[in-house]
Amino acid sequence: MSLSLCMTSWRRRRPKARYVIWLRIDQKSSLKSIYHAGYEPIIVEPVRDKDALITNVESVNRIVEQRGEEILCVMTTTSCFAPRSPDNIEAISAICAAHDVPHLVNNAYGLQSEETVRKIAAAHECGRVDAVVQSLDKNFQVPVGGALIAGFKQSHIQSIAQAYPGRASSVPSRDLVLTLLYQGQSVFLESFSKQRQMFLKMRRKLTSFSENIGECVYDVPENEISLAMTLSTIPPTKQTLFGSVLFARGITGARVVTSTQNKTTIEGCEFVNFGSHTSEQHGGYLNIACSIGMTENELEELFTRLTSSYAKFVRQLANSEQRAVSSGRRVTSNPSFDLEND
Ligand SMILES: *Cc1c(COP(=O)(O)O)cnc(C)c1O
Repeated sequence: MSLSLCMTSWRRRRPKARYVIWLRIDQKSSLKSIYHAGYEPIIVEPVRDKDALITNVESVNRIVEQRGEEILCVMTTTSCFAPRSPDNIEAISAICAAHDVPHLVNNAYGLQSEETVRKIAAAHECGRVDAVVQSLDKNFQVPVGGALIAGFKQSHIQSIAQAYPGRASSVPSRDLVLTLLYQGQSVFLESFSKQRQMFLKMRRKLTSFSENIGECVYDVPENEISLAMTLSTIPPTKQTLFGSVLFARGITGARVVTSTQNKTTIEGCEFVNFGSHTSEQHGGYLNIACSIGMTENELEELFTRLTSSYAKFVRQLANSEQRAVSSGRRVTSNPSFDLEND
């Protein structure tokens, strides 16, 4: 809704605009925010750079050059699931400045990462950043429901605030103020450096786990929140089941992403392989993320459960194949996996 509010507030300034250039991120809210504001997305898929999916800067540049005033703004995203990289906001802000097109940054959970904040400041220095929108719950450990719209100019924020219809609920602001007062400056700032420490630790642990089981962690150097590990040792048809086993064991933040040719329709737009941020096919992977507030104990517990769940899963998989072979039948259904929380 806050992304929408920014876009609607720019309507009068850009009367010929019909489109928003949207750098594909497989998160429904950000796409819906464009339609909600009354615009249509021009979808730009990321390009592969080794393991990472990065911004197709040339494509954005070409579209901005061709369409000019028909473009309301370019929407970039700085926080996302690996192997998608945060968008190259420095390059996009330079293009936006050169063609006088607004640049809206979806910084959903990026505020917790110092590196992301540094990049936003750099993007502002080398070009144009009109508004940066972030969720309160994802960055400040408050309940879901609020967002913070930030900008580099008071007047930019004022004109967005003035576009808001109604008086709004004071609850998200109240929760944020209470939380900040409770934490104080040092605890508040500590939680950000702790996130970075924990992320680096998570990456080391996942790398070593992946080496033990013959998998590997995607190398996405710019993504300092989310990690992806290949799942080549689990057949593609069994990967979703593995995901549900993890969920049943209380690993609720991990997500298995499988590759499909299926199309998903959102707001009338068709996406191949929705969830992967690209229509390109891949071998399936597991996502885990380290967000603000994660503790050492939680990290240890995650890897204890992940290690044992994986071992049990591949063992049961091997057993069921063994049984199928010895009884001379083909495996057509899923073996009965024990989904109990042990
Ligand atoms: C969470 C998220 C949103 C939506 O944020 P809400 O605070 O839930 O409205 C939008 N885009 C991305 C990339 C997100 O991760």
